Amino acid sequence: MDEIFKGKFTQQEPIPNEGIAAAIDVMQSGRLHRYNTIDGEIAQAAQLEEEFAAQVGSRYCLAVASGGYALTTAMRASGVKPGDTVLTNAFTLAPVPGAIASIGATPIYVGVTEGLVIDLDDLRAKVSRSKYLLLSHMRGHICDMDELMRICGAAGVTVIEDCAHTMGANWNGTPSGRFGHFGCYSTQTYKHMNSGEGGLLVSDDAEAMARAIMLSGSYMLFDRHRAAPPPETFKRIKYETPNISGRMDNLRAAILRPQLRRLSEQCGKWNARYRVVEAGLKATPGLSLIERPEEEGFVASSFQFLLLDWDARQIKEVVDRCAKRGVEIKWFGGAEPTGFTSRYDSWQYAPYERMPATDRVLSGILDLRLPLTFSLDDCAMIARIIRAEVSAVWQQEAADQ
Ligand SMILES: *Cc1c(COP(=O)(O)O)cnc(C)c1O
Repeated sequence: MDEIFKGKFTQQEPIPNEGIAAAIDVMQSGRLHRYNTIDGEIAQAAQLEEEFAAQVGSRYCLAVASGGYALTTAMRASGVKPGDTVLTNAFTLAPVPGAIASIGATPIYVGVTEGLVIDLDDLRAKVSRSKYLLLSHMRGHICDMDELMRICGAAGVTVIEDCAHTMGANWNGTPSGRFGHFGCYSTQTYKHMNSGEGGLLVSDDAEAMARAIMLSGSYMLFDRHRAAPPPETFKRIKYETPNISGRMDNLRAAILRPQLRRLSEQCGKWNARYRVVEAGLKATPGLSLIERPEEEGFVASSFQFLLLDWDARQIKEVVDRCAKRGVEIKWFGGAEPTGFTSRYDSWQYAPYERMPATDRVLSGILDLRLPLTFSLDDCAMIARIIRAEVSAVWQQEAADQ
């Protein structure tokens, strides 16, 4: 009998009890709005911002309604205007080009390597075409950030980091999100901290953060923020910046603060799961694992591998056979966007040029979540199932030739 995996790939852990208790306190107070405080009270949202800034070592932090909102706010606060172009990854998820489009700007896609990071040669070739790069650390893969910052610095390109998949990660010891002008994070359920929806942005630039705070809908209550530039920074900015309401509330912040305290412990658990799957898939014929550079302090809440240069038909067969055994794999090479998965040629509201080298990689990317509700034994079983099904399709193909 073939083993069948019974776990749920979308099942996250419960909110820690401490977070549930803090959420109940906020609900009992009735003061869910971040500016609804009584004398001497510091809002949960303001405390979360201080604690997150301390965690990543940024001067400023702002909590907002979603990761996508963090991206648009960071771009607006950095000066992106309608009609501008913004460089971004061809391998990413829909909210990234969507954030660019929502400002009336146009994405220019940069290719992906077999290491699943932005192709720095392609970036060098395209860097003069924009003043901005919205860099997505897609699925937690971090490129050579020193080289990326050199390329962008030399070209005068402002970098905004999408750290939806790299909260808690680092490159050579520097936290992800601390290289760019802004670092943007998501606290949506499937990311590294879970408040249902939510986002955070960090920066060291006082004026840009003052604009971000006004944009997020602070009214004239910006002095209630703590991880924020001093009130005099807002002198002109408070008149010049539109309110594009997207605040985080105290309920979400209360749920997140205990999760932030245990983030690094959680990151260790994700990586332990990743290493079990990686070991289980090593030397599977036809399957390429992704090399992780030594400088990359990654957090692997998901796992990717490549079936490079396989026929679409064979890849689909692997995905179907694994699904029958309870292993849910997403394929970025599918002709039609499905579920959360789409690719640059699915986003037809924006122009794109075909990128053959990138298409080759995208067509071979297979992706699975590794929620912390899976045990290490679960991960070993997942790897056995994938290995068996990839090998079966590979051998069948060899026999047919
Ligand atoms: C989830 C995600 C976002 C957007 O975050 P939301 O909080 O869902 O708006 C942005 N970029 C990437 C790569 C994501 O996975």
